[in-house]
Amino acid sequence: MERKLTIAIDGPAAGGKGTIALRLAEALGYRYVDTGAMYRAVAWEALRRGISWEDEPALARLAASLDIRFERVREASSIRYRVVVDGVDVTEDIRRPEVDHGSSVVAQHPAVRQVLVEKQRALAAGGGVVMEGRDITTVVLPDADLKFFITASLQERARRRYEQRRAAGLEADLAEVEAELAERDKRDSERKTAPMRVPRDAIVLDTTGLTVDRSVAVALQLVRSRLGDGAEAGIGS
Ligand code: C5P
Repeated sequence: MERKLTIAIDGPAAGGKGTIALRLAEALGYRYVDTGAMYRAVAWEALRRGISWEDEPALARLAASLDIRFERVREASSIRYRVVVDGVDVTEDIRRPEVDHGSSVVAQHPAVRQVLVEKQRALAAGGGVVMEGRDITTVVLPDADLKFFITASLQERARRRYEQRRAAGLEADLAEVEAELAERDKRDSERKTAPMRVPRDAIVLDTTGLTVDRSVAVALQLVRSRLGDGAEAGIGS
């Protein structure tokens, strides 16, 4: 039987890592884990329960108590994941713009990270998983078989996020979206605990100007060559 790999993917917001991670997981028949959704779930539940995003001990207790599940849903021509927290579908709620901000605030607290990292390692146990976030390649799964850092220019990421918001029927202003992304990148890269960084052993994939199909094809080719233990030279370069 084919070996089941552990694939770790990091990168900034709206760089394409979510879509690529999901498509890779589907192509390989692996589990897909969106760790950003876990930080979002904590921020959203805190907001709902009146817990401050600055109250580290209360947030860590909240994070430990939440039952966060990812449920795979097959739709007409695509697969999506619903995020279910304590039995309630929060998929839409955790994508609200205030939760974009809140998730990166709660993610700064070491006690919150400790709780979620433990849950994430449990979800990855046994391999056959594609996990994406900001510290997966560096902290959560430093021994992953394959590590990707997926990014794109700030302008392109802002345009993608703006279009997603408009498509969802939300108000959006391109300059504001760009400023929000830049602020979140800065907080995620400069925080003291587990800042986002590119590890030396990661394959960097810049998706600026690349279609999703092309990006997925490049990533998949690298996975296949790792599965065959083949040489990677020439692929994606
Ligand atoms: O990936 P997404 O944009 O949904 O993540 C939301 C926020 O959660 C990020 O801005 C980041 O602050 C935090 N996060 C993190 N570590 C991860 C995944 C997400 O700090 N592994």
